[in-house]
Amino acid sequence: MRRATSARTTATTGITAGAVVIASGGCAFLSRALGTNVDTGDGALMAAEVGATFSGMEFSNAYAIVPANSTITKTAYYGYATFFHADGRVLEGAGSTKGRSVIAKTLLSEPVFAQLDRADDDVQRQMRLGQPNFFLQFDRRGINPFTDRFEVSMLAEGTVRGTGGIDVVDDTCATSVPGLFAAGDAATRERICGGFTGGGSHNSAWAMSSGTWAGTGAARFARTERRVRAGELRPAGRAGLRPAQRSGLEASAVVAAAQAELIPYEKNLLRDGVRVQGALDELESLWTALSLGLGGDSGDERVRARQAAAITAVGRWMYHSTLARTETRGMSKRADYPDLDPAQHHHVLTGGLDDVWTATAATHSGLLRVAS
Ligand SMILES: Cc1cc2nc3c(=O)[nH]c(=O)nc-3n(C[C@H](O)[C@H](O)[C@H](O)COP(=O)(O)OP(=O)(O)OC[C@H]3O[C@@H](n4cnc5c(N)ncnc54)[C@H](O)[C@@H]3O)c2cc1C
Repeated sequence: MRRATSARTTATTGITAGAVVIASGGCAFLSRALGTNVDTGDGALMAAEVGATFSGMEFSNAYAIVPANSTITKTAYYGYATFFHADGRVLEGAGSTKGRSVIAKTLLSEPVFAQLDRADDDVQRQMRLGQPNFFLQFDRRGINPFTDRFEVSMLAEGTVRGTGGIDVVDDTCATSVPGLFAAGDAATRERICGGFTGGGSHNSAWAMSSGTWAGTGAARFARTERRVRAGELRPAGRAGLRPAQRSGLEASAVVAAAQAELIPYEKNLLRDGVRVQGALDELESLWTALSLGLGGDSGDERVRARQAAAITAVGRWMYHSTLARTETRGMSKRADYPDLDPAQHHHVLTGGLDDVWTATAATHSGLLRVAS
């Protein structure tokens, strides 16, 4: 990586490093889910541009429950909720951990309501102490979530609360590209939690642990491997940065078009091969258009263009991997393949820019494969 653009100053800065750790988080498609609008897959795109491999990208369709028109995707407390139709009938099968698909299916045709009616007085007190920010949104709207029914929705969290990311090939969190390391949500978390993470401390434990390992590995690499001379470096970034021609395509239009394929429940959460293929075809066309014509003049425009390109790229790896896993496993549930297939107990790998590829790799019993 040689040049970086700062959105604040619009200045372009050259950075030469002996090794790089990608720690730019996952990708939640600018869905506005709590804390995730900074996670646009930029680091994943950078890694792909130098040839990195991704793993588990089919496990990238986490959706969190929120009160309607809110962004507070704190989901743990919905374990105390009952879900309802608008007329007050209980929505059978709906639930926070098992039963989000039921909520999503119902939301396609009618509103859904929730009430945290299974928390007794003691639990209610503990809940307010435990996660005060969960209650702010209700207090401001004059809703008592323990006694009132409130409308709910679901927001996409993509790979942030999914598990897919840049593949790590040894216990230093090295990637398939020499000198490139990955940590946290940018890296695959399959080694610690398979095809489903949800919330919980293992995510930040992984971020801290993998960050330490990757940092150590990168430092060691930079000190021991031959330094590439600055004059030998070539810029690798293309989509959104160095278009072949400028077509007037706006980053906001690209993001909206990508979101239309990545966020709807019926495409990404309630997966079916035909619908996923349709969404992928749209993203492929979008990629062709943006890689030819999307760019920006100011620093801010270039940041937005890169985000748009990265979201589209992540979406393509995600849907290619989804189609390569013809079963239901972890969070990748397919209506056309509703059962787990023991023969597919493997990783789905992917990568590539204009031509996305997929392959499979055997799983390993240890946390990571150890470098020889
Ligand atoms: C609502 C919610 C609740 C959660 N609750 C828990 C929990 O209770 N316990 C738990 O362990 N985990 C939880 N997680 C998961 C946890 O937040 C993540 O696993 C963790 O934040 C990952 O850390 P990270 O540093 O890899 O990524 P992030 O925290 O996403 O940080 C990535 C950083 O990279 C920056 N960045 C991105 N692109 C660029 C770029 N191009 N240039 C410069 N900077 C860039 C971003 O601005 C961001 O600051 C939760 C996640 C969500 C969304």
